[in-house]
Amino acid sequence: MRRLSPGDCAINTATLGFQAPIGEVIEAVARAGFGAIAPWRREVEGGDVTAIARQIRDAGLAVPGYCRSTYIPAADKAGFDANVDANRRAISDAAVLGAKSFVMVVGGLPTGSKDIAAARAQVADATGRLLGHARACGVRLALEPLHPVYAADRSCLSLLSEALDMCEAVEGATDDPWLGVCVDVYHVWWDPNLRRDMARASGRILGFHVCDWLVPTADVLNDRGMMGDGVIDVPGIRGMAEEAGYAGFVEIEIFSAANWWKRLMVETLGVCRERLATAT
Ligand code: ZN
Repeated sequence: MRRLSPGDCAINTATLGFQAPIGEVIEAVARAGFGAIAPWRREVEGGDVTAIARQIRDAGLAVPGYCRSTYIPAADKAGFDANVDANRRAISDAAVLGAKSFVMVVGGLPTGSKDIAAARAQVADATGRLLGHARACGVRLALEPLHPVYAADRSCLSLLSEALDMCEAVEGATDDPWLGVCVDVYHVWWDPNLRRDMARASGRILGFHVCDWLVPTADVLNDRGMMGDGVIDVPGIRGMAEEAGYAGFVEIEIFSAANWWKRLMVETLGVCRERLATAT
């Protein structure tokens, strides 16, 4: 397994709690020695995307992923089409940013629906519609399965195996996939088939997100831990990713309203650097 240096790692800007404008975040991440940054649409849309892209490049940072898709499932066709179009525009922005991939958090049930199979079918349909545009833009699509606790409201795609099934159904077998998966240890660590499915994901792992699962967890959305503070064998899962051929950035993504988001960016970034060496 490779020895991680900060240059091998990306900071997902959510880790810093969106407490400063994107320009300041870019400078802070670069100053701390990280190799890449993964911004969110809320920091980019409505701004000068080209200027943000230039600032990221000038800071010497790569962009492994752009976060994240508009939720896809909708109660009617007009809503579905609007969601697909919103994602198409975001993929165009991802290309301007030089992002390698567009992170797809696919959404859960439309309001009033109890049909999760239909939601999943909408996701597969939309992913197929977006794939050609993504390829034309030079941006790969990374389906991120989320822990099943989010199945109703954030992601009807829960298992790594489901995401891989969807890749194969939508794109077919290929040596050069434009559709792949983003593996986030927070969402997959508990999966009894993880080792099997990480091996199966070989060639399709487009992103690798790290944080930790705290015990107890006060809030499944915004109480994620720093690597080493919880129960996830982060180095073990990183080893599976590397055995599957993943050589991209290790991206630190910590939603932590009560803890890390309250600290200065420089402090959080410093602890991230330490934990890369000891717990990642
Ligand atoms: Zn993630």
